[in-house]
Amino acid sequence: MADYVGRFAPSPTGPLHAGSLACLLASYLDAKAHYGRWLIRIEDIDPAREPEHCAQQQLELMEKLQVHSDGPILFQSDRNDAYEKRLAELQKKGLVYGCACSRKSIEEQDLRLNLPKGVYPGTCRGGTHGKPVRALRFLTRSHPVVFTDRLCGTFMQNVEREVGDIVLKRADGLWAYQLAVVTDDAYQGVTHIVRGQDLLDNTPRQILLQRALGVRTPEYMHIPLVTHEDGQKLSKQNGAKAVDAENLEAETAKAWKHLGFEAFDFDTLPEFYAEATKRWRSYLSGKKY
Ligand code: GLU
Repeated sequence: MADYVGRFAPSPTGPLHAGSLACLLASYLDAKAHYGRWLIRIEDIDPAREPEHCAQQQLELMEKLQVHSDGPILFQSDRNDAYEKRLAELQKKGLVYGCACSRKSIEEQDLRLNLPKGVYPGTCRGGTHGKPVRALRFLTRSHPVVFTDRLCGTFMQNVEREVGDIVLKRADGLWAYQLAVVTDDAYQGVTHIVRGQDLLDNTPRQILLQRALGVRTPEYMHIPLVTHEDGQKLSKQNGAKAVDAENLEAETAKAWKHLGFEAFDFDTLPEFYAEATKRWRSYLSGKKY
């Protein structure tokens, strides 16, 4: 399938850990198994959460892993104009409004309205009544979004009810992940997204934005998260260990096992990728989603 474009899109908020490596590997092998292209995108849209040199270190690790982007590496910090343009398109369609609510006031409203914590109840849809605008939100529709994940199967979410109107631009002036990711997946021509299951429930929001912007919805595959022994998701916030750059063969073999494949012997990383791609391909041809 020559028109396959996949991507790995880390946020440089900490070193790549075992969970990131599993996502990297799954997205890479899926692209190679489809004879497709694989792109690297650095999602550096939140400077306050990004330690100095983190993106550089992530890229250096990918060099050491000997995985290369089949096209220029995109940095979201360079993409302000593109996000402005996409926002303007949505504004022209009447799908954007200013919101004056703080996180705290949303929590209070949720308590009052008996909604799950964090769901935005659409308070400012009719205007902010003189209160200063903090964030810009996308007007969601009240019908369920359904999509079929290649691994997880059918997933359905009523975004309006379960999440609320999506933030496009945050109160601190930064672009929200949802708008940036949809803009860039479309710009890079991404056809297949392989990433961690923590983002499964973000996908309907992204699909709504894709539909509103008239861009294609890629195929999705959300892979199981790597967890700590107590079942908690590995994250930079809870001290996930960085991938050991001195032991990349062992780290890669571990990630391969995490993805549910049988271990095999290999001496070099290129040898690993060649064999793993073959195995991934036969897994794909043996299984119809
Ligand atoms: N930047 C996100 C992360 O590091 C991933 C975004 C995506 O794959 O859509 O968790």
